[in-house]
Amino acid sequence: MSATATQTQTHTAAPSTPLPYSPSSQEAPLRPWKFHLDEAGAIIIAVHIIAAASLFYYTPAAKTWWLTFVSWQLGNFGVTVGIHRLWSHRSYTASLPLRFALGIMATMAFQQRIYWWAMRHRLHHRYIDTDMDPYNAKKGFWYTHIGWVYEKVHYPKMKLIDRKDLDEDIVVQLNKKYFVPLSIFFCFVAPTILGATWGDALGGFLYGGCVARVAIWHCTWSLNSFAHLLGDQPYSTEHSAKGELIVAILTNGEGHHNYHHEFPNDYRNGVKAHHYDPSKWLIWAFAKLRLAHSLITIPDAEIAKAEIQTLEQHARRMRQIAEEEDRLLWGPELESLPVWTLAEMKRLVADEGRDLFVIDGLVLDFAAFTKRHPGGEKLLTAYRGKDATKAFYGPLNNHTKSARTLLRTMRIAKVAP
Ligand SMILES: [Zn+2]
Ligand SMILES: [Zn+2]
Repeated sequence: MSATATQTQTHTAAPSTPLPYSPSSQEAPLRPWKFHLDEAGAIIIAVHIIAAASLFYYTPAAKTWWLTFVSWQLGNFGVTVGIHRLWSHRSYTASLPLRFALGIMATMAFQQRIYWWAMRHRLHHRYIDTDMDPYNAKKGFWYTHIGWVYEKVHYPKMKLIDRKDLDEDIVVQLNKKYFVPLSIFFCFVAPTILGATWGDALGGFLYGGCVARVAIWHCTWSLNSFAHLLGDQPYSTEHSAKGELIVAILTNGEGHHNYHHEFPNDYRNGVKAHHYDPSKWLIWAFAKLRLAHSLITIPDAEIAKAEIQTLEQHARRMRQIAEEEDRLLWGPELESLPVWTLAEMKRLVADEGRDLFVIDGLVLDFAAFTKRHPGGEKLLTAYRGKDATKAFYGPLNNHTKSARTLLRTMRIAKVAP
């Protein structure tokens, strides 16, 4: 890379943050979802229907499969390398030729204008997990995956989002102005023409056009849905973003979403060398080819701090659990129990009327529990002075883990071998 800008961020762990993150743990009432269908939503439904029907009723030429794959990948990279990491986050600077190429690839994703996408995405980062987040993870999988498409919402906070860089970018502005003809051409007309060159114009339209668009959409939507639902949180538990390899594979590297939300302007989403992140590799290669520069990387020490703070949160939680454990009555330790013979126990039952039996080689005093036994008092008293191990574990009894734990509080002696 020709130049690497570094950025320092500080992170303050909130001691009271629940762990792991749970969207339902925050109480603000959610805006109810109201179905709204506009042209974009109708086109998405129509393209889905055509794509699904194509998969069942039309077998394309072998070359058309390759066209579909390339179209899908170009659109995917147009989102990840272009709309997301370049225009939404400015995580690197791209030369004009590269921006033009990425602009075309972004158009191939058929996900509205770059400007619209980037502004909503900035809102998503700024107001994550709130009603001001257009992909609010608290609203569940289907809302974050596709439900938001069928909703008309005014985001008053949008006016607070900086847009100066987008207003000044010629490629963003051209994309904004000519989005409709450009997207129709690159998403549907171009694949049809290419398919025609090997005699499969219809396959070019159905697969290179419709099936590839559906694939791109669901890959991108996975970032709003799966990446806020599945996976781990090594860098922060203060937001719902998570990290998951499968999502990274689908989204050309964007599935390392926990890191991305913690350090959004790092050009890498998969920050470790072994992380699958082809978008990161591509940007790095563009820098080597002098098509990109000023790649932003967060210093290793800052990343390590984020990881350590998250581990500290886990450790704090474990300490809380340990303290809670200490407060509870678990019953005497085995080592502290006296050793009795079976005859001694039987004598106490016969002479003193004690409610004792044996389970697992331990004498248990069940007097305080007789009336509370879910299976009835009779079943317990039937075993007074006897070994009830078989009965306790017998196939007719479904004693739970908690029942076994309760036995620990009743033990008063070990039975001599
Ligand atoms: Zn996100
Ligand atoms: Zn982002």
